[in-house]
Amino acid sequence: MNKPKISVIGLGFVGLTLAVVNAKENFETIGIDIDKEKIEKLRSGKPYFYEPKLKNYLNKSLKTKKIHFSDDLNQVLKTDISFITVGTPSTANGAIDLSYLKKVVVNLSKILKNKKSTHLIVVKSTVLPTTTLQMVSPVFKKIKNVRVVSNPEFLREGNAINDLEKPHLIVIGESNRKDGDTLEKYYKMFYKKIPEILRVDLTSAEMIKYTNNAFLATKISFINSIANICQKLPNVDVNKIAYAIGKDSRIGSEFLKAGPGFGGSCLPKDISALIEFTKKYDKTNKLFKAVKEVNIYQASQILQIIKEMNLFASNKTISILGLAFKANSDDVREAVSIRIVKHLIKKGMKIKVHDPMAMNNFQKIFGDKIIYCKTIPDCLKNSECCLILTEWNEYKNLKPLIFSKNMHKSNIIDARRILEPSDFSKLNFRAIGLGPQSVN
Ligand code: NAD
Repeated sequence: MNKPKISVIGLGFVGLTLAVVNAKENFETIGIDIDKEKIEKLRSGKPYFYEPKLKNYLNKSLKTKKIHFSDDLNQVLKTDISFITVGTPSTANGAIDLSYLKKVVVNLSKILKNKKSTHLIVVKSTVLPTTTLQMVSPVFKKIKNVRVVSNPEFLREGNAINDLEKPHLIVIGESNRKDGDTLEKYYKMFYKKIPEILRVDLTSAEMIKYTNNAFLATKISFINSIANICQKLPNVDVNKIAYAIGKDSRIGSEFLKAGPGFGGSCLPKDISALIEFTKKYDKTNKLFKAVKEVNIYQASQILQIIKEMNLFASNKTISILGLAFKANSDDVREAVSIRIVKHLIKKGMKIKVHDPMAMNNFQKIFGDKIIYCKTIPDCLKNSECCLILTEWNEYKNLKPLIFSKNMHKSNIIDARRILEPSDFSKLNFRAIGLGPQSVN
């Protein structure tokens, strides 16, 4: 098999990183998106979102001419494998919106109708179990040379390129052995050291993705539920509890960090889609509903601390450090910062914000209703409360002096658990999952 030519349809967080990583590995790659503005930016070497290494990879691939960008889906005809990476967001009731996927699939079937050579369509977007089998495959059933497989993606925003280069597992969902073999051969060319590949049927592949995300969301809501108890118990700190249980290999330490709850474009929408989907099979579906409810409730835990500090008043200034849903990303989709800021605006508070990457995206939502600060001291200046909402490295190293020197009153709420409480014992320091501390 010669090196296949790759097309990636939908150049969002997943599609663009996938496209540049392919080009970096010397696969001829065409990135396709309906958004002309994005295409123009990408052609000139400017990613329209932040992801570590992305700009560098993009520019290297443009230089070697291994990557091209287009808004014309017909370009797939020049390629052998098409990865579909369009969004699968939530509808108003939390169900999955498959309209972007449907549109791409129907248009692809028209374009690939008479293709002479074999074309592999890889569904990489996160879709509910049975979607590929019942919605995607039937569209191509009568087209001789087109094959369909499912290949869910597990990358994490903020670490997307590393995750694509070193995945913990590759899952290939297939309806027959030959289709899966084609994708496996491509992966064997892609990786010098091939990761484990699991071959399953189409629907199991989709179920694996949802189970993966549902478990991660459950772990976060679990530790946040524990954090809310710890917060009431003298001298108890959820970080120590999480550390201890994480040492038990049956539990594991990942995703046991108490905080403001999960956000982003995946976990909230995937847990909602799973709840809607499983209504057919499990009428009570208590666990996933609870995971979602605990997550929504978590933001109110932060507001409760502000209330306990007597800071809810229209004349008070609050500084927020961190707007992105996680560090190393400028993504604010479903970020807890949005819900908190909306609430504080309603209370009439003056809000100053800082984030190393996500300020532009935040400004698109809040416009001039809040104050955007370029530096941390600027953000803290004259404020009466500082709320840390994202675990950026630059916040982890903050010392008490920067707060006491700049703030009007040094009330600090660490909702991400990134500061060491004992360093801040002389300031009015509160944190998620930190019980009242007595000084010995
Ligand atoms: P996104 O919303 O950032 O990007 C989707 C892109 O598809 C956009 O650029 C949009 O313009 C484009 N698009 C829409 N319709 C199109 C069409 N007809 N033709 C071509 N392009 C079109 O989405 P994302 O965050 O990259 O997620 C993509 C999929 O991958 C989703 O199903 C998501 O659940 C899944 N996923 C996301 C992540 C993540 O961390 N973001 C991780 C794993 C899986």
